[in-house]
Amino acid sequence: MSYSVTPIGVVRSCFKEKFAIPRQPQLAPAARGVLELHPPFDQAHALEGLEQVSHVWLLFLFHQSLETEPRLRVRPPRLGGNRMVGVFATRSTHRPNGIGQSVVRLERIEPGRLHLSGIDLLDGTPVLDIKPYVPYADVIDDARNGLANNAPALIAVNWTATSLQQACSEALRLGEPLQALIEQCLAQDPRPAYQTPSPERRYGTRLWDVEVRWHYPDPSSITVVDVVRV
Ligand code: SAM
Repeated sequence: MSYSVTPIGVVRSCFKEKFAIPRQPQLAPAARGVLELHPPFDQAHALEGLEQVSHVWLLFLFHQSLETEPRLRVRPPRLGGNRMVGVFATRSTHRPNGIGQSVVRLERIEPGRLHLSGIDLLDGTPVLDIKPYVPYADVIDDARNGLANNAPALIAVNWTATSLQQACSEALRLGEPLQALIEQCLAQDPRPAYQTPSPERRYGTRLWDVEVRWHYPDPSSITVVDVVRV
């Protein structure tokens, strides 16, 4: 038996590439986006009462990782990328039905549009449903997860005088907290765990309409070298 689902909207996100998106929501509070609702869910009736809610769960499709062959085991980056565990013990993007879930802050509501922050979603992500976060049910005091008990360790993020100046002026132009966004995302250390970076190697990703490039002067810190409008 199969069922079909239809997206109720699409996320316009600060993240234009998968690389350097945090592994979970809330890790980069400066990561913002807008959920544009499709008809008929763009009508005011569908959003009535949502102004009383601070956070929402989004159920969405990992539209850039959809697969035809089911995977039973995956290699979560968090475990170093070389240990396999059952797919249902992970939040891997490689899932039977490609469904992801993220709890994000609801900043503001406009007709047919929800302004969100703390997102971990790629630009263009199709959203299947929205549900309010319900603190009394969703906060579980004695919850444990032996595979992912703590937030990932952070790495130091430094700037050159030029890259900081570039980030500040692009932030002004965009009207976005770009410097914080870069620091929060890079502090998660986006490089694959199996890679020992050489200081010469440059890494990059696109946030909003700027290309951010950085390198690792040593394995425990990042220096942002360039923030350039593309
Ligand atoms: N919070 C969600 C969950 O638990 O289902 C997502 C967790 S998943 C590990 C987060 C990663 O998904 C991000 O780092 C990003 O690279 C990737 N991602 C985000 N949106 C995506 C999309 N639409 N298609 C494919 N991958 C996506």
